[in-house]
Amino acid sequence: MKNDKGSLDDKKYFDLGLKHKYLYFRRTKIVATIGPSSSSPETLKQLILKGLNVARINFSHGRPEDHLRTIQSIRKISAQLGMPVAILGDLCGPKIRVGRFQNDAVLLKDKTLVTITVDPVLGHETLIPCQYKKLVTEVKLNDHILLDDGNLELLVVGKARGMVQARVSRGGVLRNNKGMNLPDTKLNIPALTAKDRKDVVFCIQGGVDYIALSFVRQAGDILELKKLLRRRKADIGVIAKIEKPEALENIQAIIAAADGIMIARGDLGVELPAKKVPFVQDKLIETCIEHRKPVIVATQMLESMIEHSRPTRAEVTDVSAACLSGADAVMLSGETASGKYPVEALETMDAILRETESYRFFARAGMFRDPVPNRRSGVQDAVSSAIAQLSRDLMVHCIVVVTRSGHTAQVISADRPAAPLIVLIQSEQVLRRLQLLWGTVPLLVSSRLAVDKRIAFAEAYMKGLNLAHSGDYLLMVRGIGDKKADTQSIVIHQIS
Ligand code: PEP
Repeated sequence: MKNDKGSLDDKKYFDLGLKHKYLYFRRTKIVATIGPSSSSPETLKQLILKGLNVARINFSHGRPEDHLRTIQSIRKISAQLGMPVAILGDLCGPKIRVGRFQNDAVLLKDKTLVTITVDPVLGHETLIPCQYKKLVTEVKLNDHILLDDGNLELLVVGKARGMVQARVSRGGVLRNNKGMNLPDTKLNIPALTAKDRKDVVFCIQGGVDYIALSFVRQAGDILELKKLLRRRKADIGVIAKIEKPEALENIQAIIAAADGIMIARGDLGVELPAKKVPFVQDKLIETCIEHRKPVIVATQMLESMIEHSRPTRAEVTDVSAACLSGADAVMLSGETASGKYPVEALETMDAILRETESYRFFARAGMFRDPVPNRRSGVQDAVSSAIAQLSRDLMVHCIVVVTRSGHTAQVISADRPAAPLIVLIQSEQVLRRLQLLWGTVPLLVSSRLAVDKRIAFAEAYMKGLNLAHSGDYLLMVRGIGDKKADTQSIVIHQIS
């Protein structure tokens, strides 16, 4: 490569200082789905050692009793390693599926007419059974029906005798129990199915840290799950999976009601034209940062690694783009759940994130993400953005946060400061939940430390890792997350 002055072959950009002490802690978190390829104790151990922050248990597949065993195994290994991992139970939600077919599959030919029935019959080339009983009343003329992740498409042309007639606009092979998406239809389906309610009980039994609700359409869906959790006295964060156009219409209220969102690009990219997904993703990340709520970018991030030990260039760019947009976390799905290379997929993701963060850190002097334009401006917001500014101006080595509920750390994290947040917490549950948040390094302390002790603790921790030395700055924040506190202060401390 050319090395003329001003060319991109500049040490600053390409020798990215990955071992630099400022970049020891990866800021963007990794969520990985645990499944048959990754639930053995050896693989779980490898995933945790390589940097897993949140383990996702997908209740759409497998048996709840097995999930419970996996959760216990994750807890045990993470305790043995002394590396806390949050657990996210992902509920199946009201996913609509087709029924079964003669010989397990049919070929739907372009332009042919097919009938969709809600009767439990065996289907054939012109008869598609559907498990959703209210389909016939809710679907309208000219609605689109997408099958098998949008690979096949039908257009509704009529309704008669309790059945739907549709024309095949994109044909192909349709197998048993494939998914059905109805992007144009207002569905009157409960947000929490009977199965979800049972799975919530398993999640509570397992002591998960977050529950993700699929196919959220409105804030009420989140509130319903929160009510159920309250009734069972379970303090679990709720993540809204954004995968329906209807959710985008109600997004402000959904984000306000939830404890975070997942951009579930699998179904979202079926229900919306795929070309819209990149900027819907960008806008959702920005909106979450405005609300100071965590956001996970999910699905097909390193899809080819299900089969191959190396990702495609496009996948690497996708993970990097999510990181540059400021996502709190990126997620692995089939790559770790059922793929051939679960540990390599996680290592690859870690490497892409570190490289991207390093580029951004050096290229923009610690400005990991451009500030969001619509930030509200209360005292808390002003203090938090001042901390982010100070972290860059003084190139501080860490920001010490003491928090009971995790709220202070959540507020500051959303400003994407230049330094990692060393969060001192007394509750293991809060500590695990913080694993999802950008830039946090949560540490358990046995008692509420006095102010001077907090700084001494963080200083010793950073020195112990050889990440800070005399003359370096730390910041400490007080009172910002405490609604009762009438003073908030930022302490600038120079290591002597
Ligand atoms: C998605 O659709 O992108 C998603 C994460 O949901 P699931 O894997 O549960 O289908």
